[in-house]
Parts: sequence; structure tokens; C-alpha cells
Amino acid sequence: MGTLLWPPPPPPPSVISVSGRRSLSTFPSCLPENRYSRGKVCSNIQSSKFDSFLDLKPESEAELLDFDLRWLDSSCKSCLDVIIIGAGPAGLRLAEQVSRYGIHVCCIDPSPLSMWPNNYGVWVDEFEGLGLEDCLDKTWPMTCVRIDDHRTKYLDRAYGRVSRKRLKTKLLEICAAYGVQFHKAKVWKVEHQEFESLVECDDGSKLRANLVVDASGFGSAFIEYDKPRNHGYQIAHGILAEVDSHPFDLDKMLLMDWRDSHLGNEPYIRAGNSSLPTFLYAMPFNSNLIFLEETSLVSRPVLSYKEVKRRMVARLRHLGIRVRRVIEDEKCLIPMGGPLPQIPQSVMAIGGTAGLVHPSTGYMVAKTMALAPVLAETIRECLGSSRMIRGKPLHHRVWNGLWPSERRCTREFYSFGMETLLKLDLNGTRGFFDAFFDLDPYYWQGFLSSRLSPRELALLSLSLFGRASNPSRFDIITKCPAPLVKMMGKLAFETI
Ligand SMILES: Cc1cc2nc3c(=O)[nH]c(=O)nc-3n(C[C@H](O)[C@H](O)[C@H](O)COP(=O)(O)OP(=O)(O)OC[C@H]3O[C@@H](n4cnc5c(N)ncnc54)[C@H](O)[C@@H]3O)c2cc1C
Repeated sequence: MGTLLWPPPPPPPSVISVSGRRSLSTFPSCLPENRYSRGKVCSNIQSSKFDSFLDLKPESEAELLDFDLRWLDSSCKSCLDVIIIGAGPAGLRLAEQVSRYGIHVCCIDPSPLSMWPNNYGVWVDEFEGLGLEDCLDKTWPMTCVRIDDHRTKYLDRAYGRVSRKRLKTKLLEICAAYGVQFHKAKVWKVEHQEFESLVECDDGSKLRANLVVDASGFGSAFIEYDKPRNHGYQIAHGILAEVDSHPFDLDKMLLMDWRDSHLGNEPYIRAGNSSLPTFLYAMPFNSNLIFLEETSLVSRPVLSYKEVKRRMVARLRHLGIRVRRVIEDEKCLIPMGGPLPQIPQSVMAIGGTAGLVHPSTGYMVAKTMALAPVLAETIRECLGSSRMIRGKPLHHRVWNGLWPSERRCTREFYSFGMETLLKLDLNGTRGFFDAFFDLDPYYWQGFLSSRLSPRELALLSLSLFGRASNPSRFDIITKCPAPLVKMMGKLAFETI
């Protein structure tokens, strides 16, 4: 079976992650990544009016990591063990994990040394558990959630911003130490024979491997689905900005700010926000440097990007945040929930294309860092031993290793969480998070980090329902029976 990718189809508009980010070489040392501290401070400060920060051009420029990769000799016709398509966080993590077992890996990406564009936030304990805490460039000891003007939750859980440069460099260093080869190209087509697959690239090269793993992100065209893809979408507009001042505590990361007082004089926007709410996510680095992101947690169909930006303008104006310079900006669009890829199939997947995004939150980086070693271990069992399990049994083992029945059940639950959020308006959402963050931290933290068992998730639901206000209970009972029945049906199917 082949997946034809030429002429390359345009990525579906609904799954493109567009980032206006370019890297920085001319910013002050207070900026969160090392690369920002090199060179002179740009003297050409563009100040915005409150309502025109959207007109400021992001000042950073594309940057390549200075790293000696081991390049593949593409004239060599021998069959590789594993080809990984994509050198994003998922592809590189899997490459370094698999190569540790002495398995021959080649990672293909159009620009393996480019800095990753997305701004990643994670819970510090997640990265500590993986030994990756040195890849955070800023941590906040606490997080907070503003439910409305009168209620704020202070969460005793540290949050961190991933240093894309350090994480990528660390993964590349391990890849280099274990002999991962890189090929600079875009994959067009993957064809399968009984025991190996042929990968064709846009530079005309053809590479063979026992296993092809797709880590090319949400826009992938190599992975097949046997059910309609009814994703929800997280959409957000984010800026790393230099501002005159901002009102946020420097020791707290603002996870969600659901206040809508900024829309007092904007009746039209207020009505839209009441039915499809957005919140502010903010990482204050110092009193003048902050990452701000107006976010729609999940919507289907996706909320318009223009509307998200309009709400952000109104919010910043109300908060008195005057943007002097936009250092980076990003459009964040994350497909959430929906069906898993067909299991098994001839191309394996990891990361955004493997259904690993948390369906209720849009987070994925920490989970992928944690699951890549699990997949690598299954690959070792098949390709690293003298038994050489290949073809269909290999595909069966790797897919079921990544998505065993219990993990599929918990994903159903998180998808139910997403379906519930999709049905809640601003007041319902506030009620939900008010009750959610009152849960025992073991449960809310476990939910957000996808580490609860099906039994614990059932206990969480009961506890959440018990703590919810009467209007929230009413919301859940009246608006969510269909998703609940759907989830129960799928759980029953998974456990048969
Ligand atoms: C703007 C944004 C912000 C996010 N923030 C967070 C966050 O804070 N925390 C979190 O946990 N998650 C976050 N996510 C979700 C998720 O973690 C990211 O999307 C993450 O980048 C997915 O990693 P990946 O390696 O699967 O794919 P990508 O990061 O998309 O990497 C895919 C790689 O494959 C390459 N590629 C694509 N097609 C081909 C091809 N045909 N041939 C060869 N190479 C190819 C691309 O060039 C790219 O290098 C965010 C997502 C977005 C879009």
C-alpha cells in the first residue's frame, strides 16, 4: 500500500500551525532563551498604541542551530532499520531513544537544524520526572487561574517554559552519540512491501527501512483513519513582547484568566465571548517582558482567528498593557480529540500525528517525551533482537505498544472532557474550572498530565460532580448526556 504525496497536497487549512516566529539575535539578556542574549540590543523600538500591537512586526529572525549532524549518504542502498519523518520534538526524542539500542535510525526533515517555532509550556514535575529539567529556561513556583473578577485559584504546582534551543540540542547530542543519521529533505511518498518500506523524498532520494515512523506533526498525510475526524480545535494568538508594564506577579504563571471585564464596552465581542469564551495565558519573565496568549481552549468549528486577536486587543487595553515591541508571535492551532489513527497500519506514528495531544488541554510535549521511550522499547523487541519481527507483526506490536487498551480507554475519557468543554459557555466553563481546581491535587494534576488510571478518572468524575455548583451540575446533566453515552459505548467496546 502506498501513500502518494506528489503533487504534495496543500495542508488542510484546519491543521496548519502557522508561526510568525523568527528567532532573535538582538535582544536583551533578560530574554528567556540564551540565543536572545547575543549581539546588540536593537535600538529601533517600535511603540504601539493600545489598539495597534497587532501591526507590530515580530522582530526575531530564523535561526539555525550550530551543530555537527551526521548526514546520510543517500547513494547508499542498504536498508535502514528505522526512518523517522520529522525532526520536531517527537521525531528527535524517538530517534535518540531508538538509537540507544544500536538500531540504525535516519531522521528526515527539510531543515533538521532549524529552531522549533512553537512556544512550549510544561509542568515542571513532568520534565523533572524525565530528567529534562535542564531544558527549561524559566520556571514559576506557582500558577494561578482567574475564574472571574472575584475568584482566583493559586495552584501549588510549578510551571516551566521549555528552552527549545536546549531541548533540541540535548536530543541532537544524544542522536549524535548513538549514530543517528539525518537527511535534509521532505518526504513525498511512502510505499510498503512485505518486510520493508520505501520512502521517496523531494530531492529524488529513495530510502528503504524496516519501519517508517511518521513524526511530521498535525499536517501529516501519511497516517490513515478509519473514522471521520471530528476534532475540536484549540486556537490562540500569542506574542512574546516587550511592554511598558504589566499587572501580573512575576512568581506566578497565569494559566487561565477567564475575566471578561475588558469587554464591558464591547457588547458584540462580549456576547460572542459569553458563548465561546477565550482566556488569557501569560508567562511573565520580568516587569517588561512577557509572553501573552489569548486562547480558545477548544471549539468546533474553530473560532475565528480574527476574533481571538480582537479579544486580545480589548483585554490588553483594559489591563493597561502597552506593547513596545513584538519579539515573536504565533498562531497556535491544535487539533484535539477525534478518533485515533487506524490501529495498526503500515506507517507507525509518534507525536501530533499519533493522537498524543491531550484532548482536553492541547498539551503534548511532556507526554511525547515520556512515551517515545515506550515505543522505542517495543521497536527494540522487534528490530533489535535476532528474532527480527518485521512486516505486519511489527506494525501490530508497535501500534499496540503505543496505544494499549488502557491508554485508549483513558483517552476516551479525556475526549469526553473535551466534548463537555465544547458544550459549556463562559459561565459553565468558569463553574467547571472552579470545581476542577478544588479537587485533590493528585486528581487535577494527574488529569492534566494524563497519568490517571480509568478507575481514578471515574473517581475524579464523581468528586467533580459532587463539588460542582448546582448550575454546573445542571449543565453537565442537560448538555452532556450524548458525549457521556458515546464515551461509555467506546469504553465498553475497548474493554470487550
Ligand atoms: C503554536 C503551538 C504551541 C503549542 N504549545 C504547546 C505547549 O505549550 N505545550 C505542549 O505540551 N504542547 C504544545 N503544543 C502542541 C504540540 O506539543 C506541538 O504541536 C508539537 O510541536 C508537536 O510536536 P511534533 O514533533 O509531533 O510535530 P512538529 O513540532 O510539528 O514537528 C514536525 C516536524 O516534521 C517536519 N515535517 C513535516 N512534514 C514533513 C515531511 N513531509 N517530510 C519530512 N519532514 C516533515 C516539520 O518540518 C517539523 O520539523 C503547541 C502547538 C502549537 C501549534
